[in-house]
Amino acid sequence: MPAIEAPASLKVVNHFIGGQLVESTSGRSGVVWDPATGKEQGSVPFASAAEADHTVAVAKAAFPAWRATPLSRRAEIMFRLRELADANRRAIAELITAEHGKTLPDALGEVARGLENIEFACGIPHLLKGGFSEQASRGVDVYQIRQPLGVVAGITPFNFPAMVPMWMFANAIACGNTFILKPSEKDPSVSLYLAELLRRAGLPDGVFNVLQGDRVAVERLLEHPEVKAISFVGSTPVARAIYETGTRNGKRVQALGGAKNHMLVLPDADLGMAADAAVSAGYGSAGERCMAISVIVAVGKIADPLIDAIRERMAKIRIGPGLEEGNEMGPLITREHRDRVASYVAHAAEEGATIAVDGRSGSLQEKPGFFLGASLLDNVRPGMRCYDDEIFGPVLSVVRTETYEEAVQLINESPFGNGTAIFTRDGGAARQFQFDAEAGMVGINVPIPVPMAYYSFGGWKSSLFGDLHMYGPEGVQFYTRAKVVTGRWPDPATSTVDLGFPQVR
Ligand code: NAD
Repeated sequence: MPAIEAPASLKVVNHFIGGQLVESTSGRSGVVWDPATGKEQGSVPFASAAEADHTVAVAKAAFPAWRATPLSRRAEIMFRLRELADANRRAIAELITAEHGKTLPDALGEVARGLENIEFACGIPHLLKGGFSEQASRGVDVYQIRQPLGVVAGITPFNFPAMVPMWMFANAIACGNTFILKPSEKDPSVSLYLAELLRRAGLPDGVFNVLQGDRVAVERLLEHPEVKAISFVGSTPVARAIYETGTRNGKRVQALGGAKNHMLVLPDADLGMAADAAVSAGYGSAGERCMAISVIVAVGKIADPLIDAIRERMAKIRIGPGLEEGNEMGPLITREHRDRVASYVAHAAEEGATIAVDGRSGSLQEKPGFFLGASLLDNVRPGMRCYDDEIFGPVLSVVRTETYEEAVQLINESPFGNGTAIFTRDGGAARQFQFDAEAGMVGINVPIPVPMAYYSFGGWKSSLFGDLHMYGPEGVQFYTRAKVVTGRWPDPATSTVDLGFPQVR
């Protein structure tokens, strides 16, 4: 399938409602930047509340027929979508790189991890099997079924414009819901490509819709009585607000927030492997990953050699436009974000940290795009802004501790609890860490422990608001509600009046 073509002039990224592209009537819009050149490449409309209402009405109208569609047909559409997405990996990845800025290999990795969720949803007939208890009482059977909720919405961040929507819509649709995606306004085009793939896979009109916009659209979805559930991924302050407003309005909400992932390195760790992991997980995607490592906790004597090994590797990172072959790190998403990230490095020095590598120096500043080099901060402590805040850029902080216990206490006192990792050759220490760590996802010599699609993804503490993690088995649970049926096919001859509470023995 050819990529959706951009017009010669600046492209306009439309809504996708009821199976077709729809021009916005709101009169409000935002700029879509090319982070690699710093130039405007298009505009995206910001939906009005009335457009949100219309989209919900379309999704609601599509629900009864979709809900009644046989499981085998839903699975067939998921299989077709899987084939289409697989065949068009590169086109999807190019769209990601064009608007997000990450390198093409990184974007291909994003598509691959997103695809896993579609593959998981292909098994929906099996996933929706309930339980059955024969002869719960005399002549009585009890069984549980799971049914879809209705119209559900997903609000997604800029850093994974294909994968995070796939985390949500694959299961939501396969479970029989109709879906409204409100993508990030910073890289909105991929959503339309995915919509086209779903259309070609045979998904009926109105089952998957894309509403472009900002907080106006989100606020309307949060208060609309016909939206039954909200999945959100983004920063912690917005996640908290979405959870509070959505649940106050009676909706089921899972809201994944920001992170500050610590990598604990014990003195016995393989130095080269730990340094490779720190650089890959700290600076990959320019640090704009919710599972990026942002703090290294170096225990004891390993700190100095580890910093030397990291510094050596940092000097070799090739930074440049994501579409140019050979580059390993692209630009940041916007100029404002790049400047904000750089300000953390400046403040770190004022607050007493040591700037081991300063990413603000060098020729990158002369490039027109939103580039920033990789920085390494040493002697960082809690209370410093660079430690307390989620920076979401290519800045790695090193905190030195004397003992494992001190390191774990530091990690567990962090308000975030998305992912964390330990690097060691001691199996006992690794097992103890898995027991102790207060985070939803733990890596053992694995720096970015993003669960496979047949587990579920989610952090603890301020990294997730809600009860259920995203995708995998918990995703299926989130997008369905359970119904328990107690049935009897009676012999009328045994029927009597009995005002007592039903007994089972
Ligand atoms: P963001 O919170 O600014 O935006 C996320 C979404 O919410 C976007 O669609 C945006 O339009 C919308 N939004 C923004 N402000 C809003 C408001 N006031 N009211 C209603 N909606 C609003 O996040 P971002 O900058 O796009 O993404 C980066 C953040 O996402 C980081 O904090 C990162 O850690 C987090 N993230 C978390 C995970 C996770 O799994 N926990 C995964 C990816 C990204």
